[in-house]
Amino acid sequence: MTKKTSYKIATLGSHTALQILKGAHDEGFKTICICRKDNADFYKSYKFVDEIILVDNWTSFFKIEDRLIKENAILIPHGSFVSYIKPENVEKIKVMHYGTKGILEWESDRRKERKWLQMAKINTPKIYEKPEDIDRPVIVKFHGALGGKGYFIANNPKEFHERIKEYPNEKDYALQEYVVGVPLYIHYFHSSLTGELEIMSFDKRYESNADSIGRIAAKDQLDVKIRTSYTITGNMPLVVRESLLPEMYEMGKRVVEASKKLVGKGLFGPFCLETIVDPDLKFYVFEISARIVAGTNPYINGSPYTWLKYDVPMSTGRRIALEIKRAIKAGKLEKILG
Ligand code: ADP
Repeated sequence: MTKKTSYKIATLGSHTALQILKGAHDEGFKTICICRKDNADFYKSYKFVDEIILVDNWTSFFKIEDRLIKENAILIPHGSFVSYIKPENVEKIKVMHYGTKGILEWESDRRKERKWLQMAKINTPKIYEKPEDIDRPVIVKFHGALGGKGYFIANNPKEFHERIKEYPNEKDYALQEYVVGVPLYIHYFHSSLTGELEIMSFDKRYESNADSIGRIAAKDQLDVKIRTSYTITGNMPLVVRESLLPEMYEMGKRVVEASKKLVGKGLFGPFCLETIVDPDLKFYVFEISARIVAGTNPYINGSPYTWLKYDVPMSTGRRIALEIKRAIKAGKLEKILG
């Protein structure tokens, strides 16, 4: 462990907090975990958590913000943080915040996200404006559906109108071409200090019940009218065909370049392209996450790809802390705060 700095690293106790705080500790920072009463004991049980700040619920984050400011804390956003405090409140954060706040708006709005991907010349699944246009299998995604619960597949307009009856209150949905292939999530890190892009790791999701339907014979699936849902329950580590790496690297570079035209300092730090790869090895990107994703959690001890670059186990959480440490040392903290 290296010398402690006066800056502290803080995050919400959820999602990727363990690797963020462990990584911060390993890079010499004191750590703060913002917890609810019901999960505080769990986070306290780890020695690398130096301080716990309790909140009644996640939405009361702003009540403890002054304390974070006094503590000289740098806040690391993660997926749960953004969804708990809501993307529209991110701009109100006053404490030092790692990453560009404005970019979170571009990832959380499907239309904006699509524009971003198109600017970056990234292949995306086709989007249908209205159900009558459905001419191939589509996945119907409800806005704000947590972790893919309740999505359904429709092959044509008739099927869509049949199935949508089960969701009378859902008016806001996207009709996206259903790509038959394998899901592959690419985890990147872009350094705004050096301009370099790194591939950190990959994961595939373990989704209930999509990942267990194959255990039941097709006839039984039909007989008991099983509906597919994509509720995320965990993440599985993955390595990819090495020949795919250069293309993925270029995709990441283009996404970063395009982001600079969208908002201020653009996208930097950890991000993820969520893809489906078809049998012709064509990538279809259906989502960008402009911050650390939970799929990096299998790699708290580093991934095969980070091992190629670092002599220490480098998780994405630790990579964030390393970047902050380098920025502090170079007197360029403003480059990585947003
Ligand atoms: P997230 O849960 O990361 O927000 P989505 O909600 O967009 O991701 O999608 C949930 C799951 O649905 C994905 O992990 C993937 O398995 C599947 N999926 C999403 N979009 C498509 C698509 N266009 N084609 C095939 N499968 C898809």
